[in-house]
Amino acid sequence: MAEVYIGIGSNLGDREAYIRKGIELMREFGITVIRVSSIIETKPYGYTEQPLFLNCVTHVETFYSPLHLLNALQFIENMLGRKRSIRWGPRTIDLDILLYNSVVIDTPRLKIPHPDMVNRYFVLKPLSEIAPDLVHPVFGKTMIELLNGIKT
Ligand code: ATP
Ligand code: CA
Ligand code: CA
Repeated sequence: MAEVYIGIGSNLGDREAYIRKGIELMREFGITVIRVSSIIETKPYGYTEQPLFLNCVTHVETFYSPLHLLNALQFIENMLGRKRSIRWGPRTIDLDILLYNSVVIDTPRLKIPHPDMVNRYFVLKPLSEIAPDLVHPVFGKTMIELLNGIKT
């Protein structure tokens, strides 16, 4: 069983409903949802001319391998009407694998830990709420240390 943290974001339509539905579908796919952080509203990152986001992080347990998990999450995104247009553009739902045990993967299709998570308030804030002492496998810092280290 792998301990996994998944970042969820939405900035189109009924954002909270998409997040709730995304979590429900993860459960239907056999993923055990242990904990869900508070949902926070954040300014768009990267491409800023788009609506505000709602973001949260979930702690899950799963038997899926990293690639199978990515496939399942992308299937759920498609089920919830995600259209792939511009990178960082508006979306009904975004499901990113942030951490998967202490696994480090660096391939074009899948990078774990998520390479930009250490720079993102909208990831580190909810992640520190549910896993403050969790250590980043590459940087060797806890989530709360990483959060305190970024400019907001
Ligand atoms: P970012 O990854 O910077 O948050 P994004 O979420 O907007 O940007 P997407 O369009 O959702 O990017 O995904 C682009 C590709 O990123 C996916 O097709 C997937 O293959 C790849 N990817 C690499 N690492 C991960 C990961 N840890 N979690 C989810 N997708 C990943
Ligand atoms: Ca993302
Ligand atoms: Ca994504």
